[in-house]
Amino acid sequence: MTSRLSSVRRWIAVGFVAVLPLVVLLVHAQMETPLLRPLDADRPIPTFISQEGPGNRPGDRDLAEHALEAWAKATGGILTFRFVEEKDALLRLRWVSAPGSLYGEMRPIMVEGRKGAEVFVRPEIAGLGKELDARARADSLFRDTIVYLTCLHEFGHALGLDHTANYEDIMFSFGYEGDIMNYFQRYRRQLQKREDIALHLGLSELDLKRIRQLYPPPRIPARQ
Ligand SMILES: [Zn+2]
Repeated sequence: MTSRLSSVRRWIAVGFVAVLPLVVLLVHAQMETPLLRPLDADRPIPTFISQEGPGNRPGDRDLAEHALEAWAKATGGILTFRFVEEKDALLRLRWVSAPGSLYGEMRPIMVEGRKGAEVFVRPEIAGLGKELDARARADSLFRDTIVYLTCLHEFGHALGLDHTANYEDIMFSFGYEGDIMNYFQRYRRQLQKREDIALHLGLSELDLKRIRQLYPPPRIPARQ
């Protein structure tokens, strides 16, 4: 009986140790991205992308659209988007200036009883660190890489994905250890010209798997 009890205690201890990092991870994700949940994908998601904002450049809207297309492709077309006026949009992107090293942010919203999300993206690289800023000034495709990947990451949150600790993922959090310059450079290296951004999704195997779990293909009913 005693040995059984101590074995139970041991398992509780092992269970607690195993669960602890998960709890910490969830708390971390919740702090930055509260109330993550999938959006209604049974019809095209009404979407708005702002054309203006501090630091916004004329082609930045394309970058945001490519980021939406990447998530749409990742789900094999289960996710679709249609552009509407801001007040009617469930998914909204605004270009903002941000304090410190914040690249972007997502906030859940409700629009006439439906789940939506506002995404804020910083298009101005100055302030994100001397090294990144210098590189972005010298190479506009590097600057576009940062803006594109930030849109992709924040839309990922808007669609219901939380952070991972895996450096390969677009949902990787910079709160974990990893070389931020190289994180952007490895995507930049795939580009010859700006149009190539549409060809390289910037999503890892795990990103693809996770978004497909949230937005699975409809089940075909079994034949009677
Ligand atoms: Zn994030």
